[in-house]
Amino acid sequence: MDKISALQKRELFTEYLTRKGHRKTPERYAILDHVCAINGHFDVEMLYQSLEGANFHVSRATLYNTIELLVDARLLVRHQFGTQGVQYECAEKAAGHFHLVCSRCGRIQEYKDLALKASVLSKKFTKFTPEYFSMYIFGLCSKCKYALKRKEKKEY
Ligand SMILES: [Zn+2]
Ligand SMILES: [Zn+2]
Repeated sequence: MDKISALQKRELFTEYLTRKGHRKTPERYAILDHVCAINGHFDVEMLYQSLEGANFHVSRATLYNTIELLVDARLLVRHQFGTQGVQYECAEKAAGHFHLVCSRCGRIQEYKDLALKASVLSKKFTKFTPEYFSMYIFGLCSKCKYALKRKEKKEY
């Protein structure tokens, strides 16, 4: 998804809610605005706390339900980084980078590669129409690599 304004996101959401016959509640739009303003990844609990911090009170049930709708509407991306719990990210932001995931401590770094992105987007597949993609590269972050090296040295 290319860069779009908050208003365009609301329009896409409206179109989606109408098409699926869901109610267009102010809570749903407020949650949309809020998730799109967050930089980086978050889980439901972080989002709940962030909304509370902004003095916006919704039930966890509403939050879970709205997140499902936003994912289905392709406005929000669901990430599963290795063994960690599910995390979310605004679709527009997620489309701009790849994720380097440390398989030891779970640290996630974002990595931008426009050429690689363009190459994936230009691919044609037989009997398959891509809608979106995300890429994870698993490995060791520099901290963990350093810690492992020190550990190895000690053992000899
Ligand atoms: Zn990301
Ligand atoms: Zn690490």
